Amino acid sequence: MAENRTFTMLKPDAVEKGHIGGILEQINASGFRIVAMKLTQMTKHDAETFYAVHNERPFFGELVEFMTRGPIVAAVLEKENAVEDFRTLIGATNPAEAAEGTIRKKFATSVGENAVHGSDSEENAAIEAAFHFSGREMF
Ligand code: UDP
Repeated sequence: MAENRTFTMLKPDAVEKGHIGGILEQINASGFRIVAMKLTQMTKHDAETFYAVHNERPFFGELVEFMTRGPIVAAVLEKENAVEDFRTLIGATNPAEAAEGTIRKKFATSVGENAVHGSDSEENAAIEAAFHFSGREMF
């Protein structure tokens, strides 16, 4: 994948609550260009694979259940310093600890149902983007 890209998912809680537009507006206003996007639903196998790094954690079962309960918006975003800047834009994992104005502060419900995913490294961004998109779906 090209440099300066990150991968995001608007999680089932955000989609259920009608926050797709609000979150995408904030992403655009923060200078990210959408280079791939789709509404999709993860299977149990998808979620277990995507979050495999967490499979020993106590919240793993709950996380898989949550991420598969409804559609998500998967997207690839481009901007200089995309991975780090997007993590700043979404805020801390726990919305109670997220900075004012961040996406999680505004739209998340709890540490589990926290509205949005953002890759934590360029390497993982490439892996996660490839999990959801083929090369010809990224522009
Ligand atoms: N999560 C959870 N309980 C926790 C920590 C994390 O349910 O105590 C979920 C939450 O949805 C989080 C995801 O697992 O976004 C991945 O956790 P990670 O620590 O990688 O946080 P992130 O990188 O998403 O901020």
